[in-house]
Amino acid sequence: MEKNAVIFDFDGTLADSMPFLEKIGVQIMIKYFDVSREDATQRYRTTTGLPYEQQIKMNFPDNSKNEEAIEEFERLKIERIFEQELFSDSESTVRGLLKLGMGVFVSSSTFQTTIEEYFRRKGILDLFKEIIGYRPSFEKGADHFNHIQSTHQVQFKDMVFVGDSLKDHERSLGFCDFIGITRMFGEQDFRKVGHTGHMVANLSEIMDILKKKT
Ligand SMILES: [Mg+2]
Repeated sequence: MEKNAVIFDFDGTLADSMPFLEKIGVQIMIKYFDVSREDATQRYRTTTGLPYEQQIKMNFPDNSKNEEAIEEFERLKIERIFEQELFSDSESTVRGLLKLGMGVFVSSSTFQTTIEEYFRRKGILDLFKEIIGYRPSFEKGADHFNHIQSTHQVQFKDMVFVGDSLKDHERSLGFCDFIGITRMFGEQDFRKVGHTGHMVANLSEIMDILKKKT
């Protein structure tokens, strides 16, 4: 693939935060909506990659406890998100891409200020051209890709999105190429939802796939 820009998902792609997020996400569903652990886990996983706010509203439409549940999740998340580690090859992969002359972006369903603080604490905030987080009506996917296109003059065909969830793949459709990371979901899961492109088990493997477009 010849590209100018690489856009990374954050949770589960650059940061090893999914076990933690799933744990509190499931815990909140059990607490507020009286569902079994098995049911909550299933509901969490099938909507993962979306902002938690949407995960709750999709799973429990119009429930009066939604706002309280979402608030508690965000409070638990901010308490411990900064303790979650980067994957061991995240920094070296980003640096490798910069060396090739690529623009490196983050597009995430986590709030922008949270991601910026996370990378500041890890000492690598300045590696990214822009970190684009979630706010209502400005989501990972179309909104973020359009923003990168118009603000940084990168055409869709020159960008690639790298993510770990099936929703990441879905949101790349019609915009740009996608590389799936097989951690939370396996090769078969990505194939089942129609992903025909590349998949890697570790982030560093994308260096074998990507070339700088000249
Ligand atoms: Mg993710």
